[in-house]
Amino acid sequence: MDFRFTPQQEELRREVRAFLEAERKQGTYETDIDAWIEGWSPEMSKKIGQKGWIGVTWPTQYGGRGWTYMDRLIITEELLRYGAPVQAQWPGDRQIGPSLIKYGTEEQRKEFLPKIIKGEIAFALGMSEPEAGSDLAGLKIRAMGKDGDFLFNGQKVWTGGAHKADYIYIVARTDPDAPKHKGISEFIVDLRSPGVTVKPLVDITGRTHLNEVYFDNARVPRSGLIGQINRGWYQIIAQLDYERSGLERVMSNYPLFEAIQDYTRKTTRNGKPLSEDPVIRNNLAELRVEYEVGRWLIYRIAWMLTQGKLPNYEAAESKIFGTAYQQRLAAEAMRILGLSGQLVEDSPRAPLKGWAARSTMFSLAYTIMGGTSEILRNVVAGRGLGMPSE
Ligand SMILES: Cc1cc2nc3c(=O)[nH]c(=O)nc-3n(C[C@H](O)[C@H](O)[C@H](O)COP(=O)(O)OP(=O)(O)OC[C@H]3O[C@@H](n4cnc5c(N)ncnc54)[C@H](O)[C@@H]3O)c2cc1C
Repeated sequence: MDFRFTPQQEELRREVRAFLEAERKQGTYETDIDAWIEGWSPEMSKKIGQKGWIGVTWPTQYGGRGWTYMDRLIITEELLRYGAPVQAQWPGDRQIGPSLIKYGTEEQRKEFLPKIIKGEIAFALGMSEPEAGSDLAGLKIRAMGKDGDFLFNGQKVWTGGAHKADYIYIVARTDPDAPKHKGISEFIVDLRSPGVTVKPLVDITGRTHLNEVYFDNARVPRSGLIGQINRGWYQIIAQLDYERSGLERVMSNYPLFEAIQDYTRKTTRNGKPLSEDPVIRNNLAELRVEYEVGRWLIYRIAWMLTQGKLPNYEAAESKIFGTAYQQRLAAEAMRILGLSGQLVEDSPRAPLKGWAARSTMFSLAYTIMGGTSEILRNVVAGRGLGMPSE
């Protein structure tokens, strides 16, 4: 097995790093944790788009580059390593584009793909509802036919970035009388449509990036329907695998990992750097090994996609492992920092920009968002191990 990248891929990685270094130096962005979840910068996304690093695996006829998933992974790995603000481009690049390529109409592809590629439009993901998270097929929001359009009524919740995005991808019930998996369809809805109201939610860290989105007789043209009516559930499965199998599941708080290592080298206790304390040394080494394991689980998926194979239980497996690793990283950073680690970012004395406190709080969400670890273990059991499952 050859683990090396091609010379072109090594060059691509160098190029992405040089760009991110330069932009950081110029002040276009500051490194942050969770920057793919809440780092909103249309300016940065446009710059990344101009470099041609969004939608790289997509067909050239829509502005993509026809590159491999391995190339895409190299780009996303560097964006996450630098903690660059990429929320505005993330859902479009990761899952909406691929969905449109597979199920969208030619008009939808021509309309949306080039704009996603240029970093000009942003999507929010409207799947979960107050009573439909793990059991997504139990969703209640209705999209009923009306004079050739659809009328939307109902609510979505936990919709990241909806207060800033241009469009929301939605799964809605189009046949209330059909069995629950059979009456669901996928849509793209303009968030500025009359009848759509976005209400921000404050999370445990005090930040606002999640939302409730309400639909009150919001009229959506038929051109917003993705793929076949009432076949949404079957179309969505591959998209969820894309959502779960990216390096963000291992690298969301990666800047904290680098910062805490640096801290242990620079901070002394009893005249010795903390990095020479055998317990701290051992724990950080363990985290490094786990990080590499998580990384390789995700590289394996990119390799499968490059070979034309779709991930299945592998996506679930990588997310379970990666998100639990990131919680251990946050906890270890907090242990190393001691009481001062609890200071949050707006405290002038907070070490490491308050990242340890923020990460300890927010990393709780990693094993919930995008499918909980319990649900994903069911996927591994059923699809991976062939055990009886729901
Ligand atoms: C920070 C954050 C960001 C999010 N962003 C988005 C977003 O942008 N768009 C979006 O649509 N959604 C988003 N979500 C929602 C997320 O997908 C759901 O929270 C998740 O799927 C869980 O659903 P739930 O919250 O309804 O919990 P529930 O489904 O009610 O689950 C509650 C508990 O029961 C367990 N459980 C449920 N069913 C089973 C079962 N069959 N077997 C074993 N255990 C089970 C779960 O694992 C969990 O521990 C986000 C969530 C968070 C926390």
